[in-house]
Amino acid sequence: MDYQNFFKTALDDLRSQGNYRVFANLERHCGAFPNATARGMETADVTIWCSNDYLGMGQHPSVLAAMHEAIDRCGAGAGGTRNISGTTHDHVLLEAELADLHGKEDALLFTSGYVSNWAALGTLGSRIPDCVILSDALNHASMIEGIRHSRAERLVWKHNDLVDLEAKLAALPLERPKLIAFESVYSMDGDIAPIREICDLADKYNAMTYLDEVHAVGLYGPRGGGIAEREGLMDRITVIEGTLGKAFGVVGGYISASTELCDFVRSFASGFIFTTALPPAVAAGAAASIRHLKNSNAEREMHQAKVAEVREKLSAVGIPHADNPSHIIPVMVGDPHKCKFISDKLLEEFGIYIQPINYPTVPKGTERLRITPSPVHSANDIDRLVGALEDLWGQCQLARMPLAAQ
Ligand SMILES: *Cc1c(COP(=O)(O)O)cnc(C)c1O
Repeated sequence: MDYQNFFKTALDDLRSQGNYRVFANLERHCGAFPNATARGMETADVTIWCSNDYLGMGQHPSVLAAMHEAIDRCGAGAGGTRNISGTTHDHVLLEAELADLHGKEDALLFTSGYVSNWAALGTLGSRIPDCVILSDALNHASMIEGIRHSRAERLVWKHNDLVDLEAKLAALPLERPKLIAFESVYSMDGDIAPIREICDLADKYNAMTYLDEVHAVGLYGPRGGGIAEREGLMDRITVIEGTLGKAFGVVGGYISASTELCDFVRSFASGFIFTTALPPAVAAGAAASIRHLKNSNAEREMHQAKVAEVREKLSAVGIPHADNPSHIIPVMVGDPHKCKFISDKLLEEFGIYIQPINYPTVPKGTERLRITPSPVHSANDIDRLVGALEDLWGQCQLARMPLAAQ
């Protein structure tokens, strides 16, 4: 086989489909985020509009101070797996902070949210005898990979469809172990799961629940515990999974659950056992971020206000954006080439960075720009964004929302 030619052909195919991914080479400016410098192109100054650092916590003074302090106190890396000298006091404190955030007995840290889903679902699915996992059709790749890795039977239910979920549950023997895996805020459409009703079904059919709150922790609920906290449902969820890399602005992932379940995953998950622990400074920074957002609603309120402002201004000029109850604003383009074209032009001509979202992240024909406003975007940033989109919408001859319908 001509290996290099094989790689090249596969990449050429991706390019011709408009799905080849190009990473913007950015340098974020601490204290001035969402502003950044783009390297290797003409427009050097860019405003980032697609970050998952939803609240700007990645530059929060308390987070940075905690990280600096931890580096000065105990150095760069953890030095080992959690089992082999990699458990520091910062890890222990962070797990306590997370358990408290979700009102659970315990929490378990992983190196990322991806790894937490992969390892926890993989372990539960493979170790619980005859377990069947009922997985929402739009679950994140990390959950899908974890479930696949577990080799447990997987039943995919229609996205957010309680009727389909119940039909699948009802067809299984009541005594068979079951796990319902789903998300709260779905990150591409910004819609929210009917958590309460899913918990009711779980009770009725004797199933465990596994909720990915990655796009909600820090952002919703009086203390940033997520949608389940906002709706008073945290105690009804068996496992709450989250990330420290999005609204909390650092990196890492976790599950929060009962003492026994966390201890079980800690004891059996290869993706937990055989990898170096997060740097203590990361744990300290994440704990500072969580602590701050438990006590402050200002960031959450400002976040929602900016989201409303962007939606209003897009509607005023007829740029079509999906209506949803979350902070994610999908601007629908529906064509991978146009999506990439608009994204390129935004960056080159307007200094605005929004990554095109194409297949396989979203289904073909639903290509979009996913806008994530944050408390650190100014009114001027918003006006520049909407003006640029208006301009490019005309250039691409894309349809507008009927103004009368708004
Ligand atoms: C980003 C994401 C993850 C993975 O979290 P990381 O900390 O970035 O690895 C898991 N689930 C969902 C729904 C996500 O969007």
